[in-house]
Amino acid sequence: MYFRHDWAPYKGFPTHRTATGPAIRTPLHGGRDVANDASTVFDVVILGGGSGGYAAALRAAQLGLSVALIEKGELGGTCLHRGCIPTKALLHAAEVADETREAADFGVLATFQGIDIKGVHKYKDDVVSGLYKGLQGLVASRKVHYITGEGKLSSQTSVDVNGQRVEGRHIVLATGSVPKSLPGLTIDGDRVISSDHALKLDRIPKSAVILGGGVIGVEFASVWKSFGVDVTIVEALPHLAPLEDENSSKLLERAFRKRGIKFELKARFSGVEYTQDGVRVSTENGKQIDADLLLVAIGRGPVSAGLGYEENGVATDRGYVLVDEYMRTNVPTISAVGDLVPTLQLAHVGFAEGILVAERLAGLKAVPIDYDGVPRVTYCNPEVASVGITEAKAVELYGKDKVVTLKYNLAGNGKSKILKTAGEIKLVQVKDGAVVGVHMVGARMGEQVGEAQLIYNWEALPAEVAQLIHAHPSQSEALGEAHLALAGKPLHAHD
Ligand SMILES: Cc1cc2nc3c(=O)[nH]c(=O)nc-3n(C[C@H](O)[C@H](O)[C@H](O)COP(=O)(O)OP(=O)(O)OC[C@H]3O[C@@H](n4cnc5c(N)ncnc54)[C@H](O)[C@@H]3O)c2cc1C
Repeated sequence: MYFRHDWAPYKGFPTHRTATGPAIRTPLHGGRDVANDASTVFDVVILGGGSGGYAAALRAAQLGLSVALIEKGELGGTCLHRGCIPTKALLHAAEVADETREAADFGVLATFQGIDIKGVHKYKDDVVSGLYKGLQGLVASRKVHYITGEGKLSSQTSVDVNGQRVEGRHIVLATGSVPKSLPGLTIDGDRVISSDHALKLDRIPKSAVILGGGVIGVEFASVWKSFGVDVTIVEALPHLAPLEDENSSKLLERAFRKRGIKFELKARFSGVEYTQDGVRVSTENGKQIDADLLLVAIGRGPVSAGLGYEENGVATDRGYVLVDEYMRTNVPTISAVGDLVPTLQLAHVGFAEGILVAERLAGLKAVPIDYDGVPRVTYCNPEVASVGITEAKAVELYGKDKVVTLKYNLAGNGKSKILKTAGEIKLVQVKDGAVVGVHMVGARMGEQVGEAQLIYNWEALPAEVAQLIHAHPSQSEALGEAHLALAGKPLHAHD
């Protein structure tokens, strides 16, 4: 079966069946070493070696396609070097700091003496460099032709890099995203910084304003508070983590309040000025907040300007490359994945989109992604994790009468009590039907999202999940208990 923009050159190529899997197409280069062959036309040329680009490269190579991967910076992109991994290392260091401070609550004698920021960076950088080496090895072992340099789309089947033309039967655009700012708000890298700078900050500020209460903003707020910084978040919308179910946002706000993290909601930024040793941030509702620095965390914009996309006929919207559910652009030979396209900006979404494209190009059946079924985790303390749709969305889709919700308080969960964490699991169910939303707040709840995504994606009924036995004492038990309650037979919960 071929899709609408099927890759014409592959039509009619011989296929063979693997022992266990579906038919795959014979690679055009049949394993030939194409690395130094100037006349080579690669099966796939990928521009950008972040999560989306390298996942496409690895999977395409695995399926026998010849692949060129062009990266101007470091393989692994934002996630490995400026995003997921370094921030989670900082969050873990923050957790260690908090646990040391609170050790006496567990009967452990320890004294918190402070944060050695150089030591924190060394720990974080060691994690990153270990993974970076592993990834480089993986790409090399799959015989991906890796090119370091800034590429530009030069036609619908080629990319120019380092003065050379790299030809491909198919092109995958995966140039990712960079931090956004507001008109007139200049990120100077010193007192007004982005997450890129925050990850390298060689000092711990006394105070900070964070513009934006989304994922990146609340994660840095959490880290910095644990490091002893006086933090204020300024958010234009009515809640922190505004894309989450309102219940999760409110629980997060309660927890942050308890931790002494300040936030101004429904507060639109109006300006920042330099003071003698810091910044003064003003909001439209007349507030002024002085701090050592301002972190701008209002989201990320696509990297597409000046890269030849529009000149070569690729349709874009505000810089995002437009794709269909198979990640095909309007140009039959060009696909796009990751933060560059207007889907969820998450590394695992980039992986999935890259794999989808590689499999489609190799002639396998590609399955469109259900973006509601993608797990989402905000790794602050406490963690916020979710999959599926919010209660508000469910009401919009099915009507108020058809939506049932249940909240299970972690106070009833032994392991959460041991960890001294508070929070809730909220389930959203279509009446007499499947669970369509799981929303969790509490320490380590990100680790529970794996089961939650199976529940959502397999359209499980509460009674079916209630039938599954969860280990005691574990936090996963809370998910089991929530479903027991929703199925009408609560155990460690009031009727
Ligand atoms: C602070 C922070 C924390 C995050 N935390 C998480 C998290 O916990 N979990 C999660 O799932 N996601 C997280 N993300 C998001 C995640 O990092 C991105 O969704 C993911 O990296 C997107 O992958 P990508 O391949 O689309 O783009 P990128 O990773 O940005 O990669 C694009 C690559 O293309 C290269 N490139 C650009 N232009 C060119 C060119 N002209 N020539 C050659 N190369 C080029 C760039 O150098 C870059 O390496 C976080 C992001 C940030 C900023």
